[in-house]
Amino acid sequence: MTTNNTQKWDRIERYLGEDALAQLARKKIAVIGLGSGGGFVALTLAMSGVGHFVLIDDDTVEITNVVRHVADLRDVGRPKVEAVAELIRARNPNADVQTVLGRVENHPEALQGVDLVVVGVDGELAKYAINEVCRANHLVAVYAGVYERGEGGDVTIIYPSGDGPCYACWAQQLRADVAQLTADESAETDSGETELDYGMIGEDGTIAAEPGLYLHVVRVASAQADMALNFLLQGQPIYRQYPANTVVLANVALEVFEGVTVPPYSAQWLNIPRDPHCMVCGMPELRALSLESLAGDLITELDSEADEQREIIRMEARAQAKRQTQSMGKLGTDTEE
Ligand SMILES: [Zn+2]
Repeated sequence: MTTNNTQKWDRIERYLGEDALAQLARKKIAVIGLGSGGGFVALTLAMSGVGHFVLIDDDTVEITNVVRHVADLRDVGRPKVEAVAELIRARNPNADVQTVLGRVENHPEALQGVDLVVVGVDGELAKYAINEVCRANHLVAVYAGVYERGEGGDVTIIYPSGDGPCYACWAQQLRADVAQLTADESAETDSGETELDYGMIGEDGTIAAEPGLYLHVVRVASAQADMALNFLLQGQPIYRQYPANTVVLANVALEVFEGVTVPPYSAQWLNIPRDPHCMVCGMPELRALSLESLAGDLITELDSEADEQREIIRMEARAQAKRQTQSMGKLGTDTEE
């Protein structure tokens, strides 16, 4: 390291410790989705000392992005991965930044040697696909969701094995419970099942129309960056245990669960258990249907027609999983009210 470089990291080193900073410099993270949240997390982790990045996104910076993104007007028309890579290098020229213009399902090799995946995508279907890629590649991932109109969000860390939930059963449980709160306002499908009204998630699994301000997204993304950084600091004195596997952040007064309303700028920790009947991570003998066998191998390239069919199968599978989890009753929280 040059003198300038040493000087640059002085404040970070004082906070983290020399050994911890050196550990971060060796770490490699993949950020999948470089939108308002993912772009912020990538840049923030670079500014915290993480040394190696794989940025994965298939999108370009649009004029509508620049008021809610780390990139600005100078980047309109450029791939988001290139815009964010340049911002990282402008802070830390020593950072090793690889960019992948595409979807992770088509580039699983980009995840080789990665210590942690940061999931910056908005759509639930994309998160389900990443969940399966991460499980197949034995990767830990930090997910974040921003609620509609930026009223709050949640962050969780998902392990590829062990006793905890995978993203599929985590989301089914949390989303199903939140959906009950908004059931009165939500549309009923033909089957009579309540559609989820949650996050930036439209009926087709894409971003809903009212996402909130950059400051709302960043409050959630900041917690996601912090959780990612903490994971990368394992073994260091500064590493800390969290009280549960999920945090729900409130930007406004937010009813996290029925009867549990948290004030603005506060947080509620929750432990979301594994669903033993989960079609992705559940015990094989308990699985009514295997999502993997239904959907095929995710990392195989398929044409768009097959992709469409697979999405339909997934949505049907999700509906079935939801019906299963609804019989499990309310989730417990760590606060009695
Ligand atoms: Zn699961």
